[in-house]
Amino acid sequence: MDPERSNVTETGRLTGQGATPKHCQLCGAVLEVRDADGRARRVCPACGFVHYENPRLITNVLPERNGAVLLLRRAREPSYGKWTFPGGYLELGETAQEGAEREALEEIGLRLRAGPLLGAYTLLDAGQVVLVFRAEGVRGRPVPGPEVLETAWFRPHEVPWSDLAFESTAAALRDWVALAQGRGRRGRPARGSAPPG
Ligand SMILES: [Zn+2]
Repeated sequence: MDPERSNVTETGRLTGQGATPKHCQLCGAVLEVRDADGRARRVCPACGFVHYENPRLITNVLPERNGAVLLLRRAREPSYGKWTFPGGYLELGETAQEGAEREALEEIGLRLRAGPLLGAYTLLDAGQVVLVFRAEGVRGRPVPGPEVLETAWFRPHEVPWSDLAFESTAAALRDWVALAQGRGRRGRPARGSAPPG
């Protein structure tokens, strides 16, 4: 195993996970960290159950209209008051697109269609993979939900780079700006809170 990518800390904990289960979910015995399938994992010494841990999937959608994107300011931690786009953990029983559409309805009150994938962004330390879908031609007026302070439209040169919520937010918006500039779109200098165009 490449030590740079080892998933075991000096104290024997596995990295990249939030909650750390201590007991076997089958028999309740205390788990031990052992090698399993060539990687350190939590294994039950009593029944042999291997507690596999995998990155969690977060699904997002970037609403677009007339060369601008709709961002929201978060009303909860982490990153309270910072800008990002609708998204959250994918639930069992829904597709990645459906999850993104559900989050958009919950957070900004818009029924939109998650279209092409803008990108997939891996956050190694957080143990997360963030999918960002595009939704072009978004119609209707956003209605901020309880987790959102406000929404605003931003053209490529108006993106609030120093006030973005997450590393993945910045990465996705850099990709979106590159796409937008590739299409030769140019916006006006002022940031508006109303939809442009
Ligand atoms: Zn067990």
